[in-house]
Amino acid sequence: MTPSDYLTYLEQHQNEMVSTLKTLVELESPSTDKILLDRLQQYLQDWFSSLGGAMEPIRQKKAGNLLKITFTAPNSIAGKKTALILCHYDTVWPEGTISARPFKIVAGKAFGPGVLDMKGGIVLVYFALQAIRGLKRQLPRPVILLLTGDEEIGSPVSRQILEKIAVGAKYVLVPEAPLPNGVLKTARKGVGRFRIKIQGKAAHSGIEPEKGISAVTELARQILFLNRLGDVEKGTTINVGLVKGGTKLNVVAPVAEAELEVRVWQQNEADRVEAAINNLQPVQPGISFNVTGGFNRPPMERTQDVQNLFSRAKELGKSLGLNLQEGATGGAGDGNFTAALGIPTLDGLGPPGEGAHAEHEHVILQSFPQRAALIASLLLSV
Ligand SMILES: [Zn+2]
Repeated sequence: MTPSDYLTYLEQHQNEMVSTLKTLVELESPSTDKILLDRLQQYLQDWFSSLGGAMEPIRQKKAGNLLKITFTAPNSIAGKKTALILCHYDTVWPEGTISARPFKIVAGKAFGPGVLDMKGGIVLVYFALQAIRGLKRQLPRPVILLLTGDEEIGSPVSRQILEKIAVGAKYVLVPEAPLPNGVLKTARKGVGRFRIKIQGKAAHSGIEPEKGISAVTELARQILFLNRLGDVEKGTTINVGLVKGGTKLNVVAPVAEAELEVRVWQQNEADRVEAAINNLQPVQPGISFNVTGGFNRPPMERTQDVQNLFSRAKELGKSLGLNLQEGATGGAGDGNFTAALGIPTLDGLGPPGEGAHAEHEHVILQSFPQRAALIASLLLSV
C-alpha cells in the first residue's frame, strides 16, 4: 500500500472532513472559558473514541481539560518509543465570535474562528487515523495524540504534562498552520517576556526637584539599553511593547515599568539576553529594579534529526502530489517545548490557509485529503 492509497481513501471522505470542521468551529473554545473548553474536549473525546484509542482525559481545575489518546501498535516491541501528535483545541476568539463571523465556505476556502489555528489540523489527524484504521494498516509504533486547551495563552498548565509525555517520543508532529504555500516549520523562535519595575524617589517638581529621582528618566535610558540587546544578524529581537510610569505632572516620577518581549532563534541568545536583563544596572544612583519573567518558550532549532524527519516527509509528499518545503517562523508554539527536549519536531502539518488570529482566517479545503494522507504516511513509515 502506498501513500496514494490513503489519498484515495481520504478523498472519498472529504465532505465528512468539511462537516466535521464546521462542527468544531461552531463549538467555540476561547482559552480562558473552562465551560466552553470542556464542552469541546468532551465532544472530541466522544468523536475520537470511534478510532479505538485509549482515552485519558486529564482534568484541570481552571484550564480546559486535556485529552490524551493512545493508539497501540500490536506488533511493535514493548517499550518502543511513541509518535506524539500535539494539538490544541483552544482559540484566541472570545465567545460570540461565531455569531458575528459564522463558518462559511467561499471559493473553496473555509472561514471561521479557529478554522486555521488549529481546528483544521485536528480534523486532519482524526481522518489520518481513520484512514489507517479503515485500510486495516498496523502502526509501527504507538501513537499518542495530546489535545490541550491553553496553547494560545502560553500553555501554563499543559507544558509540564506534554513535556512528561514527550520524553517517551521518537518524534513529534504538530498539525498547526503551515507557513504560506503549505511550507512546513522546522525552526521556530523562542519567546521571552519580562517586566521591569523601577523604583525612584518622588519630589515636588517645582519646589525641590533635586531631591527626587525620576523613574521615568531611568526607564527611558534603560529602554535604549534594552533595544541594543537585539542582534539583527542572529535574528534576536527586543520589543519594549508596554510602558507606564509617574504619578502626577508636578511630581518627579517615583515609579515606572516596562514590559518587553524577546524573540530568538538560538538558545545561547536566549541565555545571553536573559542574563543581561536580570543584570540591569541603574544609570542614576538611588534607583532600584525589580525584574520578573523569562523565556516561556525555548527556540526550536533546526537540528540534523529534524532535517531527516523533514526529508522523509518531503519524500512521502511527492507521491501525494505535494512539493513540500521547509521554513522558519518567528511565532512560537507547543512544538518549541518538545524540540527543546531534543525530540525532532515537525510543525506546520495542518491545512494551508491564511490569517491566524485575524478576521480573514481561512483554510483551503482542497488540501485536506493530501495533508491528512501525509500525516497518515508519516505515522506508518517513520
Ligand atoms: Zn495554534
